[in-house]
Amino acid sequence: MATIFDKIIAREIPADIVFEDEHVLAFRDIHPQAPVHVLFIPKHAVPTLNDLGAGDEAVVGRLAMAAAAYAKKEGFAENGYRVVMNCNRDGGQTVFHIHLHLLAGRAMHWPPG
Ligand code: C5P
Repeated sequence: MATIFDKIIAREIPADIVFEDEHVLAFRDIHPQAPVHVLFIPKHAVPTLNDLGAGDEAVVGRLAMAAAAYAKKEGFAENGYRVVMNCNRDGGQTVFHIHLHLLAGRAMHWPPG
């Protein structure tokens, strides 16, 4: 089922896009939880982490690598950052198109809420 992220990929609704390549799109979260809060999504939609199958290793790998490259480019890789992927109800997932949250610009707390 199409989600709001498919509409962002198709440019049907606006987003503050910060990175794009053949497989990955990254844009600023509309409700930022840190000074830097960017979502990295695959252009090929997979609803949740549970739906990844054989051959999908690169889907998540590309998100992580794009996030790390962005952190280096923006200059906060050394200070550090957090990446999060929420899955289903208890994980707090609200958009069913997998996405990696990149949070930075402040010290993170542990354990997360
Ligand atoms: O992990 P979860 O599914 O809860 O994250 C979805 C994220 O997508 C939220 O942080 C929400 O603010 C963000 N979002 C967005 N732009 C939209 C719709 C949702 O940045 N148009």
